[in-house]
Amino acid sequence: MALIVQKFGGSSVADAESIKRVAKRIVDTRRAGNDVVVAVSAMGDTTDELLDLAHAVAPTPAPRELDMLLSSGERISMALLAMTIHSLGYEARSFTGSQAGMITTADHGSARIVDVTPVRLREALDEGAIVIVAGFQGFNRDTRDITTLGRGGSDTTAVALAAALGADVCEIYSDVDGVFTCDPRVVPLARKLDAISAEEMLELAANGAKVLYIRAVEYARRHNVLIHARSTFTSNEGTYVLGEGMTDPRLAKGEDMTDVIGKEEPVVAGVAIDRSQAKITVVGVPDVPGSASAIFTRVSKAGANIDMIVQNVQSASPGRTDISFTLPKEQARGVAQQLQAEQSELGFEAIVHDDQVGKLSVVGAGMRSHSGVSLTLFDALSRHRINIEMISTSEIRISVVLRDTDLDEAARAVHTAYGLDGGVEATVYAGTGR
Ligand code: ASP
Ligand code: MG
Repeated sequence: MALIVQKFGGSSVADAESIKRVAKRIVDTRRAGNDVVVAVSAMGDTTDELLDLAHAVAPTPAPRELDMLLSSGERISMALLAMTIHSLGYEARSFTGSQAGMITTADHGSARIVDVTPVRLREALDEGAIVIVAGFQGFNRDTRDITTLGRGGSDTTAVALAAALGADVCEIYSDVDGVFTCDPRVVPLARKLDAISAEEMLELAANGAKVLYIRAVEYARRHNVLIHARSTFTSNEGTYVLGEGMTDPRLAKGEDMTDVIGKEEPVVAGVAIDRSQAKITVVGVPDVPGSASAIFTRVSKAGANIDMIVQNVQSASPGRTDISFTLPKEQARGVAQQLQAEQSELGFEAIVHDDQVGKLSVVGAGMRSHSGVSLTLFDALSRHRINIEMISTSEIRISVVLRDTDLDEAARAVHTAYGLDGGVEATVYAGTGR
């Protein structure tokens, strides 16, 4: 008997009809002879609506109360899902995060899972019940308060449950078919990947791909959990996210993979695009030791998460340099103001705040062993007369910052240049991937 963890996102349980469809799917899995543990998100846009409500009654809601409020969204869907399963003639029991033994740090709104003690879940499974767990929430032992894991946290709940219970697979259901070589709404010829390494998935997620949350993939990689990202609306296989040393489950199932085996892995697994970043340039910084440190001390005090940093030696004014960096759009104005306020102390000439930028990244483990990978990217952009503003690389990723208006065309051009185009246009649902 296998143990399967299934996670259903908000769009999969948006209304009574959807909850019934999901319940049927869970019961089918149970009927096939598996133990089933389900992590569920709040219905549809519930979490956003609760957040709006909170901000309508208080300008800065207390973090503890905010977590009490937001965690209630998942309680609604878990109880409704359990009832629906009962009406299909199966035993099901729902549990809050704290009942399920999700022990977290005390950071309200961004708690991290530190331990999972699923005693009650084991009992329920032993008694033959289907287990439903409220996603996105936990409990801190010191404060004895309810916490939430941050937006999209139900993916992490599911993976943590799968790790703690030793599940065979963690199926993450959403309204898209799996992980694509690029967002099919932007690149119509994007292909669904049958499998991807956790390492590549992490880079794609960190650089704008929304189908899986970074923290969930990180957790899966650390605890060796097999993720299967797939659609609630079809029974097609989605994408397997494989940890180090994992064999492709399609092989284990005895599927004919002769067209895959022996073929060289493509150098590039996928292309990610990100419109969430802004660029700040500090112009004419004194080119002396300590300048960067002084600037980034201010930036980090403002709580900003820096992504790329580029420093140029500026020939126009001798002894001065420009430093550009990218950060989330919503943090950029505050950081620009902070720096501006200390202009005389920092000694730079001007601050340029630009939020019309977009980032494109190509990711592939094959980059380690292939040369000329970046040239393909630069060449494709050049042929489309698209200007590159910043470049950064990691071992398995090349990212460029472009004008945001160039991003879609760039993604299509690059996707073609790396040979990623599929033969047919992908079916595009109105899916958000959640
Ligand atoms: N309901 C939470 C959110 O919308 C958690 C989740 O959906 O994973 O962020
Ligand atoms: Mg949600």
